[in-house]
Amino acid sequence: MSDLYAVIGNPVEHSKSPQIHAEFARQFNEKIEYIRVLSPRDGFAASVQALRARGALGANVTLPFKEEAARLGLVATLSPRAKLAGAVNTLKFEDSMFGDNTDGIGLVRDIEHNLGTPVKGKRVLVLGAGGAARGILGALAECQPQSLAIANRDRDKAERVALAHAAVVHIGVFSYDELRSEYDVVINATSSSIRHERPPLRTSAFAKKALAYDLMYSDQPTPFMQFAREAGAGITADGIGMLVEQAAESYFIWRGKRPQTAPVIALLR
Ligand code: NDP
Repeated sequence: MSDLYAVIGNPVEHSKSPQIHAEFARQFNEKIEYIRVLSPRDGFAASVQALRARGALGANVTLPFKEEAARLGLVATLSPRAKLAGAVNTLKFEDSMFGDNTDGIGLVRDIEHNLGTPVKGKRVLVLGAGGAARGILGALAECQPQSLAIANRDRDKAERVALAHAAVVHIGVFSYDELRSEYDVVINATSSSIRHERPPLRTSAFAKKALAYDLMYSDQPTPFMQFAREAGAGITADGIGMLVEQAAESYFIWRGKRPQTAPVIALLR
């Protein structure tokens, strides 16, 4: 019998996670079944329980449930990084339930290993203050950037995110209008690309040869990536590498084995 895993979200039919985990399992000659679970927006806890009752060993959590998963009474233990993020993307079902967040490590592996851009000593700007931004700030801080800043339309929301991280790192908070400095790494963690828009950023925010990274992935360069290129960014990337890297970390949490990511990234491209 195959070991059962799932991605729980709403919507979830677009998720590439089943394909990614099937590729990982193939690398180790392991048998897993990885399904999509469309959870009602007001029924996340019940969906998790039902999956567990089916004998599943773990699950990924995606939009819009990551923050709810971190508050879920069912989760007995949260990893320090999930606690800091206030968001969970990986659940492991054992006697008790464990919640973790692999988004940040996934992003950092993609930026540092796959794109060859060390974050240490860099001026880093994160755009957005939603679940995705929360998930990546702790991992970015661990890379010891020279500075870490966030900008968001709703500035208060960005303040709350910075406050939640205040014990581990100082994060500068800006509205888009207030941004004056230039940055070596600019990460679009907003959902603007979904609507083919881009955050209202000035071209002067990109330092020469900056890395511009959009968490969103798409067949075509996103509006943010196009804008960054025109503004002189040296490298632009979308979030497909992060997607595969965060999945690999989930696989490791569940099964103690680290899959190779490069062939899976190439396959998805
Ligand atoms: P949320 O809905 O939680 O947050 C959305 C954020 O985007 C808010 O800060 C919002 O600002 C901002 N925003 C939306 N539209 C615009 C716009 N036109 N201009 C400026 N800011 C805008 O979403 P998530 O944080 O969960 O996800 C964000 C993105 O990250 C999604 O596209 C998601 O697919 C992607 N993602 C990719 C992953 C990967 O592995 N590659 C992993 C996780 C997420 P405000 O608060 O002012 O409204």
